[in-house]
Amino acid sequence: MSESNREYIVISGARENNLQNVSLRIPKRKITIFTGVSGSGKSSIVFDTIAAESTRLLNENFSMFVRSFLPRVPQPDTDAIENLSMAVIVDQKRLGGGSHSTMGTITDISPILRLLFSRAGQPYVGESNMFSFNDPQGMCPECNGIGRKLNVDMDKAVDLSKSLNEGAIKLPDYKVDGWDWSLVVQAGPFDPDKKLSHYSDEELEKLLYSKAKKVKMDFAGKATNVTVEGVIEKFTNKYIKQDLKTKSERTQKAVAPFITEGTCSTCHGSRLSQAALSCKMNGFNIAEMSSMEVGQLIRIIHEVDIAVAAPIVKSLSERLQHLVDIGLDYLTLDRETDTLSGGESQRVKMVKHLSGSLVDVTYIFDEPSVGLHPRDVHRLNELLQKLRDKGNTVIVVEHDPDVIKVADHIVDVGPHAGSHGGTIVYEGSFQGLLESGTLTGTHMKRPLELKHDTRQPSGKLSIKNATLHNLQDVNVTIPTGVLTVVTGVAGSGKSTLINDVFLSQNPGAIVIDQSAVGVSTRSNPATYTGIMDDVRKAFASANKVNKGLFSFNSKGACENCQGLGVVYTDLAFLESVKLPCEVCRGRRFKEEVLAYKLNGKSIAEVLEMTVERALEFFEQKEIVRKLQAMSDVGLDYITLGQPLSTLSGGECQRIKLASELHKQGSIYVMDEPTTGLHMSDIGLLLTIMNRLVDAGNTVIVIEHNLDVISQADWIIDMGPDGGSNGGEVVFEGTPSQIIHAEQSITGKYLA
Ligand code: ADP
Ligand code: ADP
Ligand code: ZN
Ligand code: ZN
Repeated sequence: MSESNREYIVISGARENNLQNVSLRIPKRKITIFTGVSGSGKSSIVFDTIAAESTRLLNENFSMFVRSFLPRVPQPDTDAIENLSMAVIVDQKRLGGGSHSTMGTITDISPILRLLFSRAGQPYVGESNMFSFNDPQGMCPECNGIGRKLNVDMDKAVDLSKSLNEGAIKLPDYKVDGWDWSLVVQAGPFDPDKKLSHYSDEELEKLLYSKAKKVKMDFAGKATNVTVEGVIEKFTNKYIKQDLKTKSERTQKAVAPFITEGTCSTCHGSRLSQAALSCKMNGFNIAEMSSMEVGQLIRIIHEVDIAVAAPIVKSLSERLQHLVDIGLDYLTLDRETDTLSGGESQRVKMVKHLSGSLVDVTYIFDEPSVGLHPRDVHRLNELLQKLRDKGNTVIVVEHDPDVIKVADHIVDVGPHAGSHGGTIVYEGSFQGLLESGTLTGTHMKRPLELKHDTRQPSGKLSIKNATLHNLQDVNVTIPTGVLTVVTGVAGSGKSTLINDVFLSQNPGAIVIDQSAVGVSTRSNPATYTGIMDDVRKAFASANKVNKGLFSFNSKGACENCQGLGVVYTDLAFLESVKLPCEVCRGRRFKEEVLAYKLNGKSIAEVLEMTVERALEFFEQKEIVRKLQAMSDVGLDYITLGQPLSTLSGGECQRIKLASELHKQGSIYVMDEPTTGLHMSDIGLLLTIMNRLVDAGNTVIVIEHNLDVISQADWIIDMGPDGGSNGGEVVFEGTPSQIIHAEQSITGKYLA
């Protein structure tokens, strides 16, 4: 390798997925941004080639014994990759981890705060694990550090307007004349015909809460020993104080509606023991500090000036400052990580790496601007630059022009998607990109156009006095029959208003999000859109055989792989390994089924067709209509049989759109639909949204993308800022009005 090549990661002849023998050099210790239309092959280079090779090399460092337990990462389909350093992938996968994983634990900030309390808290209480709800010493003994407790939902459990004979007790074990019911009635002294609302307080207390007592009772003339107990008391002992998961599924289902989760009354949700809660610093205990927004917490920590704790305070403020820098100042340390959005999750992971001391690492980011308002994008840029300046190589897949601008090097992948893409159409500087004439370059130069001929609404839907999370008693109307865009900085309350409040009031709305589609490993675009069913019929009538033969889970399917085309090899406690089926060679059907042809093609050959090719091949009206819908949402390049699990978020979203396109009079809700979309794809998305509206539907979109905002009929701008400084509607109106609205940050960026 020549000396100058040491300054580059060198990739030669990459052929993963749609890549057409791509060769390129990525400068080390610089920021390289990959852009291009969705489906062009960015992920195939960055994730399936570069990241995959790095993981494989890392695994090779382990001994044969350890490696036998690791999932086998196949060598990416490429001639060579040279000069690669360890890669860290910072993606948008949600941070799971259950109730014990919080923002504070995942960023390693909580341990430092605990240490600070153990040194500087008053009164002095002891070691830092005294302040940990994950530690038996620190956790609230009542709820075991969960902060929540299960309770009986009294409104559902008893109906006070009825008598015992009328079925006042609605709990599953208390059917009228059933065993438990009879015990209660016989044990008395209750009048089974008296409505519960007429009971005295003592009677009600006895009926519901009396402790277990052994009594002799007369059943069919026989004296029998039985235990009687208050109705709620018994239910609590039987189902709430024991782990429900150990009961049968049927019992769990029957009991679940009567159980609600509430805050633990001992620790008030703080999860900590009383000793931990009584220790304070600057007047606040650790639970109070953990529930403060980071922006406020950092100011309080600065006021702690105890000599012994100086280094701890320094490292704590440094990390908190990283959270502020990346635009997460509205989050709290006690926020459970599984409630964070994809964009928030990625930024939290980023903070973890900023505080670390690794150098010469290749960091790979997947659209880090997701969820960020244009106002906050410069903060993200500064963080990417910081990582680079520490001596790391930064590789980013990104569509946002404001991020692309800070790249040291840009790689534009295209020219189009799928088989029409997979090549590099431009490499070089930002200025050069603008002049390159590629789709990306051309779109970047185009000025923003405001929509002036906005549509008139057909009616309105109201949200009244919304107070969930940070919403400050919000009253707002959403016009129907038009395209409404809800915008505002991250944390201002957009998702809370639409995904939580609006959707719970309008449960019939159609939500088009980017979450994965398809539950079965056999799902593909053909099965998801219903095309497969029509194709099977066509094959059956052409060959005069049963259409069941052409189903992946019928006796026509390959027996070795059960129609999957791949075989999974289980590895005790790791992800299983997937290999192509040797019997059908991935074609999924038996030879005899493959012998049946439709216009000369077998079922496997049809499944290998792209939507574009299938449109030429089929004449059947229903099939053509469904294929056309896929083509309309820009998925011509997808093959009918591609497993849904390999589709990107943006592709999943569009396939959902394709199967909903023919509806009328519905409400559509989309959360950041431009994620993963190139500027030129956004035009296509807008066309689809406008088509939906023109067909009489209501479309509501949460979005930061200025191209989409500028084309709205109606804008609802949330703010003014994130968290407790947000939660208000700061503007409602049209695009041409918002640019003059003083109070709207979004308006300024649009202008
Ligand atoms: P981008 O990241 O630019 O959106 P991708 O690299 O994800 O594009 O995809 C490039 C092409 O390869 C697309 O046509 C996509 O559908 C296809 N593709 C991606 N992953 C797989 C896979 N695992 N199997 C088959 N095709 C794939
Ligand atoms: P946006 O969608 O505008 O980014 P969100 O609606 O996600 O804003 O958040 C608004 C506020 O509500 C923020 O302070 C956020 O931290 C808080 N929040 C959102 N979801 C939850 C949740 N599941 N639990 C607690 N707080 C939440
Ligand atoms: Zn508790
Ligand atoms: Zn097979």
